[in-house]
Amino acid sequence: MKLSELVNGESAVIVKVNGEGNFRKRIIEMGFIKGQRVTVVKNAPLSDPIEYMVMGYEISLRRTEADLVEVDTNYVSVQDQDFAPTEKVSHKVAEKQTSIIPKKQISIALVGNPNCGKTTLFNFVSGLHEHVGNYSGVTVDAKSAKVNFKEYELVFTDLPGAYSLSEYSPEEIFVREHIVNEKPDIIVNVVDSTNIERNLFLTTQLIDLESNIVVALNMYDELQKSGDKLDVDTISDLFNIPFIPTVAKRHRGITKLMDKIIERYNQSETEFSSIKINYGLQNESFIDEIIDVISDKNKSSYPDRFLAIKLLEGDDQFTKIINDSSVIEFVSSKQRAIESSTGDDAETVLTDARYGFISGALKETITKSSIERKNITRAIDSVITNKYLGLPIFFGIMWLMFWCTFTVGEYPMMFIDYLVGSLQSFSEYLLPSGAVNDLITYGIIGGVGSVIGFLPNILLLFLFISILEDTGYMSRAAFITDKLMHKIGLHGKSFIPLIIGFGCTVPAVMATRIIENKENRILTMLIAPFMSCSAKLPVYILILGTFFPKDAANMLFLIHVVGIIIAAGTSILLSKFVFKGHDKIFVMELPPYRMPYAKNSLRHMWDKGSQYLRKMGGIILISAVVIWTLSYYPQNSEQLNQQSNKEIEMIESLYLSTTQNGVDSFVAAKQRDSSLLLIDRHYSSVQLNNSFLAKIGKAIEPFVEPLGFDWKMGVSLTAGIAAKEIIVSTMGILNQLDPDEDGINNLQNRLLNERHTQGEKIGEKVYDKAVGLSFLIFTLVYFPCFATVSAIHRESGQFKWMWVTVGYTTVLAWILSFIVYNIANQFI
Ligand code: GDP
Ligand code: MG
Repeated sequence: MKLSELVNGESAVIVKVNGEGNFRKRIIEMGFIKGQRVTVVKNAPLSDPIEYMVMGYEISLRRTEADLVEVDTNYVSVQDQDFAPTEKVSHKVAEKQTSIIPKKQISIALVGNPNCGKTTLFNFVSGLHEHVGNYSGVTVDAKSAKVNFKEYELVFTDLPGAYSLSEYSPEEIFVREHIVNEKPDIIVNVVDSTNIERNLFLTTQLIDLESNIVVALNMYDELQKSGDKLDVDTISDLFNIPFIPTVAKRHRGITKLMDKIIERYNQSETEFSSIKINYGLQNESFIDEIIDVISDKNKSSYPDRFLAIKLLEGDDQFTKIINDSSVIEFVSSKQRAIESSTGDDAETVLTDARYGFISGALKETITKSSIERKNITRAIDSVITNKYLGLPIFFGIMWLMFWCTFTVGEYPMMFIDYLVGSLQSFSEYLLPSGAVNDLITYGIIGGVGSVIGFLPNILLLFLFISILEDTGYMSRAAFITDKLMHKIGLHGKSFIPLIIGFGCTVPAVMATRIIENKENRILTMLIAPFMSCSAKLPVYILILGTFFPKDAANMLFLIHVVGIIIAAGTSILLSKFVFKGHDKIFVMELPPYRMPYAKNSLRHMWDKGSQYLRKMGGIILISAVVIWTLSYYPQNSEQLNQQSNKEIEMIESLYLSTTQNGVDSFVAAKQRDSSLLLIDRHYSSVQLNNSFLAKIGKAIEPFVEPLGFDWKMGVSLTAGIAAKEIIVSTMGILNQLDPDEDGINNLQNRLLNERHTQGEKIGEKVYDKAVGLSFLIFTLVYFPCFATVSAIHRESGQFKWMWVTVGYTTVLAWILSFIVYNIANQFI
């Protein structure tokens, strides 16, 4: 029967894994192999995916994936393979150049499954703070750090997580290539002691690679808590590799680990010994035959034996490396031989042999306690991923996150605004009036102030995200939402980045790292900008407050929904036509819940906050200064200034003469003030209309006119390319707000009363509801900010996707605004 046919709580033994390609590879590596017992834990609230337990840890599969696994409820699990005899072998180490460096350098690579604590260990030894999270895929590139220890310099490299060294994911290929190309002296294989059986699968491949290994038995605290006992000495002997218990989070066992690294390094200056995994009589002779055939053709840095095994497994990457049709033909004859004698393909047979070796070794060394393991996680999950409660809790948490971010964040925000305002009046008062005063007060302090205002929101959002990550809830969120996301061609793991997108698109794009599948990751990045970010809020508030004051709240909600619809539509289109036909695998581990580590969460929050400040602060500072400069120059000509001075003098003298004639001086003063204000407005509007900024705006005008926008809107939107916060502040500059007037209300009045001063529409109002709607849609959809675009470039690793984003969003925005404007003109 199929695995998907089992009901909750039922268990069965795996008979066969069907399917092909990456899916099959991945689940076999994760322990779905013949003879293993698998238990159904529960269905997700939307009944898909399904959570299973295999080898003592939880994993979720989609129903369609579980269809591909054949199981039998009557079988007895065959966990008792014989411990295959192993052979000790010695590996020669290439002569090292003895340099005159006073300290000996040892290069060390941290290799292990996702989420086993590599980065925690790395952070502790290096004193750095790389991102740690309780789900897979947090670390995506290599980070190195030098550590002085005794008379050595240890160079640690933290690598992404890998379940194996096959070609399943970019991370796994990366790790494999790092090992063979960089040739680290020692590989520290970090192993999650509570998932030791599956973790040692990678160890067997590292042994095939003939690496010099030290195993860090991490999470040893959790193993001890579970009551299981592991005979560390015996397992070290069986593998002929030192196994050192560690608790990276509490910094335990690390000194011993480093001592062992040095010891192993010194022993092995010329050679070190390890074991050879025994793949069984027939397979071993095939492997030997293949080694004979390839040994003089192997120009790669991979050892012959590793290459032979990989070829036999049918790993495409290695077939490409060898690229020799006679070898490939020879290998496939061996594969057929294995298939006909065992009824299984070579890959399965070799994987089984590895697991056979592991379970044999564990049988001799591990004593399972009778205590039910992971019962705390189970208890929490019975509520959090519950059929009825799962979704409400999920939405509750999301709501809480946003409520806290924006409502609680408002208080520090108000305080920051107040500080910025005081600083502005202070500098205006202190500096001699003129260009420098203006630039510093409005350009620099105003521009940067608007960014710092968002800092509390960003910090709170990341504190939340970091806590959700650390506890292990992120994987559950993916589990719960997978069915929904699958409908639009995405993966449950895409949900989190998209949610983050409501705060800020830059971290959202960065958060797509948690998605293993590259195409899914890129697709998620491309639609993230449609999740309306918080920097667009001021624009919405301005426009809605001006033209739709009664329906503002509903419309605000509607805009966000429109964004979601556009995102979903884009995703469906792209997954149908661009990213089609690739198997998007869900297979995902659900790690046990862990207490968030306060120091880690706060650190993560601060890292993200300062990243935001640096990136955005720089861009906004520069663009504020640029916009200010373009609008400030050229100044009015001397002639105009004289004219304006003359007018001012006239008003003043008129005022003097009227007061002398006994007219109520209060009324006269009022009249004088309003006339002066009018003159000032007139001349600064003349100046603005001649400024460089206006020239740019007029050049843009033909493009935005069909959407109902005037040049000021065009300029504001263009400035918004740098950051969306700039749209409103540019509108402010262009509509000549007086600093001491209440900003937003005043701008709203200006917009309502602005009339065309030239052209065929002269005298008509510039802005109406139709223009407002069109402006809202355009702001929602068009060009995400510079920071987002550069994040997309960085994260996708290709300029292509950056340009796709720029082009697609801008063209789409134009088309949608055009439609909205024309329809609205008919009906409103
Ligand atoms: P990586 O994916 O291998 O880099 O793993 P991380 O370093 O990101 O850690 C994954 C999770 O395990 C985090 O929540 C850590 O706080 C936690 N963790 C790391 N080491 C230990 C340990 O020794 N004991 C326990 N109980 N938790 C740990
Ligand atoms: Mg990591």
